[in-house]
Parts: sequence; structure tokens; C-alpha cells
Amino acid sequence: MRCRLCGFRAGWFRRRCATCTQLQQVVAANRGAGLSLILDLLLATGAPRAHIEAFLAADPEGAGSIRDQIVADMSNELLQAFGQPSRQSAAEVKRIRERGAWSRYGGRPPDGR
Ligand SMILES: [Zn+2]
Repeated sequence: MRCRLCGFRAGWFRRRCATCTQLQQVVAANRGAGLSLILDLLLATGAPRAHIEAFLAADPEGAGSIRDQIVADMSNELLQAFGQPSRQSAAEVKRIRERGAWSRYGGRPPDGR
């Protein structure tokens, strides 16, 4: 079977390869940390860069990639520090990203919704 996250071969009856499992643990243990710090920690696992990039871009649920989730956690942490509880989700980050960082805010979203 292929890994649901990176798309590389994961082995029999495995939905996630060993590398992605390890990367996922690093992300889970560092929720709220900055993206650049998490990237450093992911690279420190010794995983190939291409594998890390495939992992970060994975969006198995269609509700935002792992990178979007990291960004959502980071902004929630930041807003909380300013006393503004927020629950930005990976799906919202994905929407903002796909809209091109607000550049077309007010215009028609590309998917017509
Ligand atoms: Zn994988």
C-alpha cells in the first residue's frame, strides 16, 4: 500500500509509512511552534527533504494540508498571546492560501464558491 500522506510505498497493510509516522510525531509534539522551527526539527529527523515536502503538502481529508495545520496552530497561539482566543482551522488557512494571501479579497474566489 502507498502512504496516505507522502504517496510513497508504505508496506503491507500500512496506511502511513514509517517516515511520515515519525514526522507526524514531531509536528504533534511541537504544536504552536513556528513553521521554520518545525521545519528544522523535521530535517533533524534525517528524513529526505523531498519526503518532508510531500508530507507537509499532504491533505488526505481535503481539509487543509499539514503545513496549513501548522500555520493554523501557530496563529492561534499568537492570537492567544494577544488575548484574542481564536480557532483558526487548517481549512481556513487553506482557503486563505488558495485565495492568494488576500490579494483577491473581495473578488470572486477561483473556485466560484
Ligand atoms: Zn509517508
